Parts: sequence; C-alpha cells; structure tokens
Amino acid sequence: MRWPFPLVPQVDELLSSFLVRASHLHGLAPYRFCAYHFPNIPIWNRDIDRSAPDALLIAIAEKADLPWEQVVGMTLRSAATTLGSDVEGNSPWINAVGVYHRLRRRWGQQYCPACLIEHPVFYRSWRLSFVVTCRRHQVRLQDACPHCDVPLAIHRQQLSACLCHACSLPLSRKAADSPLSARALWLAQSRWEHALTDNHAMISRARIPAQALFQGARVLMNLIKPSGSIGPKTHSVTMELARVEKRAEVLLHLERLIEQWPDGFSAAARQRHLTQRSFVRWSLPDWLGTVVDQLPRGNSRAGAAHRGTNSIRARLEASRRQGGAWRTARAELLWRAANP
Ligand SMILES: [Zn+2]
Ligand SMILES: [Zn+2]
Repeated sequence: MRWPFPLVPQVDELLSSFLVRASHLHGLAPYRFCAYHFPNIPIWNRDIDRSAPDALLIAIAEKADLPWEQVVGMTLRSAATTLGSDVEGNSPWINAVGVYHRLRRRWGQQYCPACLIEHPVFYRSWRLSFVVTCRRHQVRLQDACPHCDVPLAIHRQQLSACLCHACSLPLSRKAADSPLSARALWLAQSRWEHALTDNHAMISRARIPAQALFQGARVLMNLIKPSGSIGPKTHSVTMELARVEKRAEVLLHLERLIEQWPDGFSAAARQRHLTQRSFVRWSLPDWLGTVVDQLPRGNSRAGAAHRGTNSIRARLEASRRQGGAWRTARAELLWRAANP
C-alpha cells in the first residue's frame, strides 16, 4: 500500500529527513509511521543515511512511489564510493552520529539554522566532515542544539524540524561567533566540495582523482593536531568524530598544506621531524607518496634521503603486492629501518 499523502524529496535531502517529513505529513511520530509501513526493518536504531539496507530502499521506493535511483540518491552511498572506506568498514569523511539504540551520541548531524527556518529539511552535505559552513547563508553550521548542546536526533522531533527534540527550544538560535575566518573556511571547504562533485582535484597544477585526494588528506589529518601543529607523536584527529569547530580548524590547516604543495608540506614535515617511517602504516596515493619518499628515511642520524623504488614505503608496497610472505618481509624491512 502506498502512502496516502505523497511527498517529493527536496534536492540533496537525506533519507532520514524524508522519512521524518513523511511521518509528520501523515500525523504520526516517525517511529510509529515506520513501524507500520516497514515492519521488521530496523530503521531508527541504524544510521540509515549511511548504510540503509536494500530491502528498506526498495520498500520506500514502493511506498513513496519514487524511482529506486531517487531513493538511493538520498543516502550517502554515492559519496562514500569517492570518500573511500577503511579496514574497519568505517566511512571516512562522513560524520558519525553515534547510534545507540534510538539515541544519537555524536554530533555528526549538522545543520544551518537559517536554512532550517526556510525549509524544515536536512541535507546530505550536512553529514560530510569537510562541510562546516552554509554556502547560501555564509554562516557556520551547528552540530547540536544551541540551548542544551544535545546532538540532533531528528526522528525524535515531535512537532517541528526547527525544535530540539530534547529541550523543545528553537534550533534557529545562532551559535557563538567563531574566531576562524569565515571566508578562509568557505574557500577551504570548496576544495573538497568540488573534488566530490567533479570527481577530480588539482594539486600543484596536477590533476588527481578525487578518491586519491581524500585518501591522502586523511593520512595528513592523522598527523595534524587540533592545535594545528603536526608531528609523528601527536594525538590524531578523527575527523568524523570531531565537533564542527575542530573540523573547521583541521580544514584550515589542511588547506595551508595543500595550497602550497609540496613546499608547505615539506617545510612542515622538516620542522616536525617527520620521516618516511612516520607514514609506513598507511597506503599512500601517488601525490602524497612521491613527496613522502623525499623525506629522510627515519632513524638515520645522517638523515639521508632514500628516494623512489628504494624507499621503505615503496619496498613495503612492493612486498605487499607480491602477496604471500609480505608480512614477514614487512617485519624484516621495519626491523632493518629501526636498526640501521
Ligand atoms: Zn543556510
Ligand atoms: Zn535542546
């Protein structure tokens, strides 16, 4: 049975937002509405925007009388293809919402207070880690209720998308002003937005696939502290778990490194004594790998540079490609690097 009142998804609307709007349109709380129309499919105790099962998408397409492509398009699936995935199955560059039963413990669902007043809709781009400002309103996105600081759980909003589900106060109140330059942030954010849309990016006049940009930038982020300094012994920033203000800081630091690539990176790496060994645990895309190969090998007092196919990283990659006993080869290479 189709829904009695059809609803049209807005451009870039999130699947969860669409379901919440459909529920309210039918006069029901999202939990009741979905339990009735999609029995036996877990919805609100999952992050359906990031990982909705096909069974749910097919059911929504049928009930809402929408093409399958349009329903899949409301999830973050296509973005995740470019943004990559790590060995644990996490989605890099997609903010975590910290699903705990039907609660949300992380501040991953951002919103623009001005957009929300105009349209009670939550957009896909608001879940992306590199999106921290609203292009239309030139304001910083918010990642929590401005009154009680609780992460948003839009499926728990009873009356309106503009009211906090926990304290019922308006989400439209502007957060405190940030010391970070709005214009600089907007420019930094644009780099990543364009890469995702165009599927490629320019670094130092070289055209590289978007996937390689996102993969390499994540490695760089692991060596960038929120305070802005970089170094091998710092606490890493997990972009997807960080709050919006921290992510904004990291974006600005990344921008400084990439804008002056490779000189900015080389200087920062020298200053922080980064070596090839600092990067051995990651698989590096070429644009980053070739620059890392020019760093000192590591643990070498002479600090000699070992470039090209002879670098530790290149040899590790080669042994991994050969398969078989690559773990033994890796251990041996690391041992030799540590004991020159
Ligand atoms: Zn806005
Ligand atoms: Zn609140």
